[in-house]
Amino acid sequence: MVISTDSDDGDDGTTWRTIPVSDNNLGQASDQAGGQAGGRAGGPRLSPNLRGIPLYKPGKPAKGEDGRPAYKLSSNENPYPPLPGVVEAAVAAAGDLNRYPDLGCTALTAELAARFGVPETHIATGTGSVGVAQSLIQATAGPGDEVVYAWRSFEAYPIIVQISGATSVQVPLTADGRHDLDAMLAAITERTRLVFVCNPNNPTGTVVHRAELERFLDAVPADVLVVLDEAYNEFVRDAEVPNGVELYRDRSNVCVLRTFSKAYGLAGLRVGFAIAHEPVAEALRKTAVPFGVSQLAQDAAVASLRAETALLERVAALVEERTRVVAALVAQGWTPNETQANFVWLPLGERTADFAAACAAAGVVVRPFPGDGARVTIGETEGNDLFLEAAARFRKES
Ligand code: PMP
Repeated sequence: MVISTDSDDGDDGTTWRTIPVSDNNLGQASDQAGGQAGGRAGGPRLSPNLRGIPLYKPGKPAKGEDGRPAYKLSSNENPYPPLPGVVEAAVAAAGDLNRYPDLGCTALTAELAARFGVPETHIATGTGSVGVAQSLIQATAGPGDEVVYAWRSFEAYPIIVQISGATSVQVPLTADGRHDLDAMLAAITERTRLVFVCNPNNPTGTVVHRAELERFLDAVPADVLVVLDEAYNEFVRDAEVPNGVELYRDRSNVCVLRTFSKAYGLAGLRVGFAIAHEPVAEALRKTAVPFGVSQLAQDAAVASLRAETALLERVAALVEERTRVVAALVAQGWTPNETQANFVWLPLGERTADFAAACAAAGVVVRPFPGDGARVTIGETEGNDLFLEAAARFRKES
């Protein structure tokens, strides 16, 4: 890299502008700043990419009325507390809060690489898998580029695509809430840089099967990155659903996204990761917020990985609850689509807001997507029961 004072572009592609050194520079700069301190009308110019972006809507907190308990079934969180040994690991790390965390997440990376049987260089960690997803877009797409994904899907996708200046191409789900991979393939153009496949899909809980996904991956151009977002992978019981880690191995344009927020119950600590071939993983390390994953999060994630027996028990209990809730809904006359995640989806259309209000009145907070449907997390048994009672009443009354 050669630094020159009159070039905007470095030999290696970097861009900068260097102000020639002059005795007057400092004085001029501070004079200008002083001159502007009174403020020009309108304030600072913000990126036009932000226009119209809705703020990310978190699931509403549960607020009990009249002393009744309330259950938050709106954010796909794990109702169990952190796994054994995890709080202790986090508390121990808290003693060093005056220090920056390990930049490379060394211990966590080594643990993940061993667990998945992949090179450490193929792991990239981030502030939740949404942080990693944002880095992936930043690393691949900008103005004029397109990012393809199914819709409705994870509500952060349109936000992080728009922030990058790229264009979202939303491919409608099939009538039964599944990815339409043929339509997604047809939507790929020479402008496409990245495709998300959310498996299981949030919020419908539907899955993409191995054979159709392999056909899709074989047909996607090799220079388009396919991100398999597997935030809910641990809850899958359908044997036809592939583990993305097996699909990425011999495909350099496939990246798998996983998180500690759902099955592992660490949503509050913000840690997720990608498994991808080296150029992509390295790009993620370049675009990630430096020191974004706290030492608490790193140590808690390592402790969580080591508590696998307890993890599997909890996931099995939640899957059992899912089966019970779905069967009860069917018995009530609902027709929920098959879900492989820790939530169910009710396509209520225009009745969605009323349904959410009825649930709230019963002490259960669900996640409405007005005009479309409601997503309800599988939570603690009492909360699930309250939800089922509210759902039964709503069916009878409406
Ligand atoms: N992907 C999907 C499909 C999700 O539903 C979520 C969380 N709602 C995420 C990614 C992000 O989770 P986190 O940032 O907590 O890892």
